[in-house]
Amino acid sequence: MSIDYRVIGHPGRDNALFLKIISGHAVDHLLFDCGSCIDELSSSEITSIDHLFLSHLHLDHIAGFDTFMRHNYNRGKDVHVWGPQHVAGQIHCRFLGTTWNLVGEESLTCWQLNEILPQRLDKYILYSQESFLNRHFVASPSFDRTIDRTIFSNSKFQVSAFLMNHQIPSVAYVVEECSRQNIDMKVLKESGWNPGAWLQKVKDSTSSGTEKISLGEKTYSLEELRKTLLTTTRGQKIAYLSDFLLDKNAEETLISAVKNADILVCESQYKQEDLELARKNYHMTAKQVAHLAQKANVKKLILFHVSQRYPHLEYGKILEEAQEIFPATSFPDNWEFI
Ligand SMILES: [Zn+2]
Ligand SMILES: [Zn+2]
Repeated sequence: MSIDYRVIGHPGRDNALFLKIISGHAVDHLLFDCGSCIDELSSSEITSIDHLFLSHLHLDHIAGFDTFMRHNYNRGKDVHVWGPQHVAGQIHCRFLGTTWNLVGEESLTCWQLNEILPQRLDKYILYSQESFLNRHFVASPSFDRTIDRTIFSNSKFQVSAFLMNHQIPSVAYVVEECSRQNIDMKVLKESGWNPGAWLQKVKDSTSSGTEKISLGEKTYSLEELRKTLLTTTRGQKIAYLSDFLLDKNAEETLISAVKNADILVCESQYKQEDLELARKNYHMTAKQVAHLAQKANVKKLILFHVSQRYPHLEYGKILEEAQEIFPATSFPDNWEFI
């Protein structure tokens, strides 16, 4: 299992993050924000996106939605869109702005629009066979988001969401692969037991721990074998933060949310000398972000979404400001001019 990540979009332009969560033969595709940079993805990549996570709906984060909609409106597999309050209505308006009489009644694509609110999740559904005319409200499971920030989970990964302040709500997302248990091959070799189908039972948590397995002249319970042979590997963790004020409260929330992340992808709209501008516009400076990365003990910080006010010649300075505090900082690999 692993997470493959790609920051898309050019320096000073719309940016987004494309993730592939690879687990065995299955791959889950996630896109974070949907600016015009979506054009950098191939058709097959766009139609493979299982979940579109929107931080907020300023134009630089949603300008590519028509392309996303065009590729996926009737793909025959559910489309999941996530974002802050009002995202369902705003996405529905995008659909209503197009004429869909050529979409047949036999089409079966369901668009699940999820609004992340301070205390709950609200879900709405649009159906292609209704030509997207109606927005159906689906009662959300009753859980308290102030305690559990997880908005989605399956057997492979989970996504948590944190509401931040960008004068409007803006959502910070954290993706974590599930930890996995593997056979410790060194211990297996030392034990002298012959590998075989029984190892699958040791790994399979649905098999009862009291079940007996005979190895050589001895018999062991699955529970005993699990204690001896299984080793736990933590899954990768990656965070996507963009467009909000990094004040004391935000920093406190995020230090624990992104703690020990493998990758932190974070906006750096401003240089430190423009801190007042960052505060006024509810954005961050590279230096603030570096302090966050350091305090949260992340492995790697990737800066993106830099203000277009800075010429490319100044990018080196922005990077230096961050690296002085957190050396493992870089811009995306594809920003080759730096
Ligand atoms: Zn914004
Ligand atoms: Zn923005």
